[in-house]
Parts: sequence; C-alpha cells; structure tokens
Amino acid sequence: MISYGLKDRTIAITGGASGIGRAAALMLARDGSNVGIIDVNGGNIDKVLAEIREHGVKASGFVADVRDAGQIRQAAERFEQELGAVDGLFACAGISNTAPAETMEEAAFEDVIDINLKGAFLSCREFGRRMIERGRGSIVVISSVDGLGGHPGRISYVSSKHAVNGLAKNLALEWGRHGVRVNAIAPGFVDTPLLRASMPAKFITGVVEDRMPLGRMAAPEEIASIALMLLSDAATYVTGAVVPIDGGLTAGYFTAR
Ligand code: NAD
Repeated sequence: MISYGLKDRTIAITGGASGIGRAAALMLARDGSNVGIIDVNGGNIDKVLAEIREHGVKASGFVADVRDAGQIRQAAERFEQELGAVDGLFACAGISNTAPAETMEEAAFEDVIDINLKGAFLSCREFGRRMIERGRGSIVVISSVDGLGGHPGRISYVSSKHAVNGLAKNLALEWGRHGVRVNAIAPGFVDTPLLRASMPAKFITGVVEDRMPLGRMAAPEEIASIALMLLSDAATYVTGAVVPIDGGLTAGYFTAR
C-alpha cells in the first residue's frame, strides 16, 4: 500500500460521503490521518465515518450544504474541537446536470454554479482563513476535464468547472505567501454514482470507454491518490496548478486503437 505521509494530519473533505471524496477519506484513514467529512447526505456520512474509524483514526462528520457559509463555519469549528487544527481541505462536493444550452433552466444552471463554484469558494474561504492564521495548509479543489474544454449539453457544469480553475489559481496567488497552497484536479470519467446518474450506460461504454487512451474509466481511488499527493509534503512546491487525471483523454484528439 502506498503511503502519502499524511499520518496524524487532519484533513477535511466536502462531498466526502460518496464517490471520489469517500475514496479519499478511506485512503487518508489508511494512511493514519484524522478525517472530517462534510456532506448533505447524513446517512452516507455515518457509513463512511464507521469505515474510517475501523482504521483507528479520529473521524468527524457534519451534515452541511456547501452553499451555506454558516454551516461550513460550524463544521470547521466541530472539526477543530474533535480532530485538531485542519491541515488540508479537499473540496470535492459537486453536482452536474445535462440540457441543451438553449433550454437549460435558470434554476438548474444556478444550482450547479452555486454548489460547484460558490460551495468550493465558501469551503476554501472558511478553512483557508484558519490555515492562514497557522501559516500553513494545503487545499485541493475538484475541477474536471469539463473545466479544460467544452462538452455539449453540459453548459452549467462546464462553466462551473472552468471557474473552479480560476478560483484555485487566484487563491494560490493570494495565499502563497501565507504558506497555503491551492491546486485543482481535473478528472476525466470516473466510475461514481454521479457519473452513472448523469450518463446513459450506452454512452459510457460506446463513447467514453472507446475514446479513452487507457480504454476505461478511472476508479475513484485513482483520482483521490493525486489529491492526497497534492495535500502532502510531496507537493510543497506545487500551487496554482490544474492537474488533469484523465487517462490521456485531453492529450489529443485522436485515440490509437
Ligand atoms: P458523488 O455524487 O459520488 O459524490 C458527490 C458528493 O457531494 C455526494 O456525497 C453528495 O451528497 C455531495 N454533495 C452534493 N451537493 C452537496 C452540497 N450542496 N453540499 C454538500 N455536499 C454535497 O460524485 P463524484 O463523482 O464523486 O463527484 C465528486 C466531484 O468530482 C464533483 O465535484 C464532480 O464534479 C467531480 N468530478 C467527477 C467526475 C466523474 O466522472 N465522476 C469527473 C470529474 C469531476
């Protein structure tokens, strides 16, 4: 098993009750980190907390909506009390929706921007402030290959993820001198409940897997591992980066078969 050198660190994860965030939580627990989970899904938080505690580390959960600054503040306070000062944040909560741009409902567009962009900002602001006070910390925000180029039918998601890259870059500029690094990761297609809910099975096998240079989707752990590396001291000189983790999807426009 790979060690990320995060033993005894405290890491907060938004959206940590499912998919990529859950994978990161369990990998952190195996590495000896204490883990704080923020999610809207309380039932899933409880399940993940039980799995984390099997590794003998401390775990804390808080049911919060990342769109709500007050709830994020309460979560941060709880984690500090129960786990100690937070060394790292993985801002992983997100949603997507699909509709042609010309018929995309305003409310649906706003939902995606509010959760993926504003939620990431509020999470970074709350935990970032605390890291600035301590003079150190590392933050990873989740973007997507849809933050690197367009994707027909995904106007809200593409817009939100392009903006998340800007968020990470700007925070890196503002907080670098305070000892706080901020990076974004841009996964391709990852086998999670979110992906299965947003793409028809035919599209997954017929288009996604056919076009992937590595011939398959990622497992959530293959994304989480790079987030952990960026949170760790292996990445002390990396900030303001947007790191594709996409099986080669954005390397070019032809796939050799
Ligand atoms: P997932 O649905 O398995 O997990 C997302 C988690 O976020 C869920 O537990 C959900 O309850 C939580 N969440 C949603 N809205 C929230 C809110 N308002 N406040 C707090 N928590 C909230 O999805 P996933 O595939 O693991 O996605 C995680 C992130 O990865 C998302 O930001 C997504 O955009 C990004 N991503 C996913 C893929 C993919 O292929 N699965 C690819 C690129 C990027």
